[in-house]
Amino acid sequence: MAQQPLPLCKSHPAPYLEGRTGDATLPQPPTTITDELGIALSNLADSATGVFTPTLRLGVTGLSRAGKTIFITALVHNLLTQGRLPGFAPLADGRFIGAKLAEYPDATIPRFAYEQHLAALTANPPTWPESTRRISQLRIVLKYQSAKWWSGMTGPATLNLDIVDYPGEWLLDLPLLGLSFAEWSAEALERARQPGHADEAADFLRELDGTDISKEANDPDAERLAQAFTTYLRRSREHGALSTLPPGRFLLPGDLEGSPALTFAPLPPPPGPNRNSSLYSMLEHRYEAYKDRIVRPFFRDHFARLDRQVVLVDTLRALNTGPAAVSDLETALSAVLACFRQGEANPLLRPFSRRIDRILFAATKADHVHHTSHDRLETILNRLVASAAKRARFAGAETRSIALAGIRATSEGTIRENGETLPTLIGTPLAGEVLDGQAYDGKTEIALFPGDLPERPDSLFEDGNPVALNFLRFAPPQRLERNAAGDSVLPHIRLDRALDYLIGDWMA
Ligand code: GDP
Repeated sequence: MAQQPLPLCKSHPAPYLEGRTGDATLPQPPTTITDELGIALSNLADSATGVFTPTLRLGVTGLSRAGKTIFITALVHNLLTQGRLPGFAPLADGRFIGAKLAEYPDATIPRFAYEQHLAALTANPPTWPESTRRISQLRIVLKYQSAKWWSGMTGPATLNLDIVDYPGEWLLDLPLLGLSFAEWSAEALERARQPGHADEAADFLRELDGTDISKEANDPDAERLAQAFTTYLRRSREHGALSTLPPGRFLLPGDLEGSPALTFAPLPPPPGPNRNSSLYSMLEHRYEAYKDRIVRPFFRDHFARLDRQVVLVDTLRALNTGPAAVSDLETALSAVLACFRQGEANPLLRPFSRRIDRILFAATKADHVHHTSHDRLETILNRLVASAAKRARFAGAETRSIALAGIRATSEGTIRENGETLPTLIGTPLAGEVLDGQAYDGKTEIALFPGDLPERPDSLFEDGNPVALNFLRFAPPQRLERNAAGDSVLPHIRLDRALDYLIGDWMA
């Protein structure tokens, strides 16, 4: 059978995929029939192992520092200790029997370091754990009584919940599967040369200008260019850009740190006929290898096998940074979400292919604003993901937006100022945090008026309309309550509702 290209990121913005005709440099189909078959077989294998116990694969993603580690740690801890989850139907109905961690069936994937993360959060003093830097997984087995009428005859039911934590940056790589080296280079260099990026890109462009790309391939030149390109990507990000440009592994290499697979950079077309032994050819080769050995397997082995997905978004940080960061976040989210694979499987293989049927968008760290602003935070998130959510719904997936805090680090109070009563947050700003010229030492608890979120989300995209938020990063909660069994109780905001949306119907 002829290899048919199957659209992977069909809806990715035009500059990437449309209007390009076959370039001489190794055109690559986004996914191939072989990939589809691989995915179908993996799913069959999953179904076989899940004959007696259904398995729900929940993907947790979001850009760096969006709150993935905290969300998963809090979710697992609350399930294991049967924490305060009034909005999680199986627990609220008294049908939840218990949960325990189990060995993950795939020993080749790192395990999510739940115990270490919990130890950091419950230490004295508590600290925030290390963030997600690569893919990891965890299996939690949930025992419950079904609410169905026949459940009395069948006894308690069991569900394996497999949580897959992966950097959202890696999803930004998926459009690369449809781009040749020449096409990707043209996109990347065009962006680097825009006046708005002059500061960040100057060193990289200088390195590039000083390099003869037609000369004999050599590793030191490749490393120098890759290094300069990575520094440019990092600076881009530090200059308020919350999004990341592909290749996603350059900033979050996971286990590939220092690997030659990451030693390439975008290059202009060679001035004359290109030789196989040139520096240009070497980097082109490495780009193709990156796609084939890193991006494609990630999609096929992990991403395509998810049932449900939660996309965490640090909306407040973008609002606090300004309109450019908000637009940037919107663009990054659109790129990330364009890759969700709803409804795009080959019809012949569809019976075996899983599709994500529910996506939850969550604005994290909602404890940085007063609860009276939570509705507005959800409205803003809705606006940010509107086009992506529409596409997902069109393809048959349900979506919802929610404002939550995996771990609530503040409590609420009021202060009176100039005869006015203002809602405040009470918490301990992290050491080194500065607001209005005052630096905090990490030990002093304060009451802070966080400011109001705008009523009209569109105003966030307008210049000269900054959101007046008083934004400080807080230390994790210092004094944790304990439940009757002596376990620490981690406070949260709406984690129970998120959980109910993501897995509640599987435990009905
Ligand atoms: P990721 O794993 O890279 O997505 O991010 P993390 O989960 O490690 O979160 C990054 C940082 O954001 C943490 O170290 C905390 O400082 C902060 N954070 C994450 N979730 C919450 C939350 O629910 N409340 C508060 N106050 N801070 C949070």
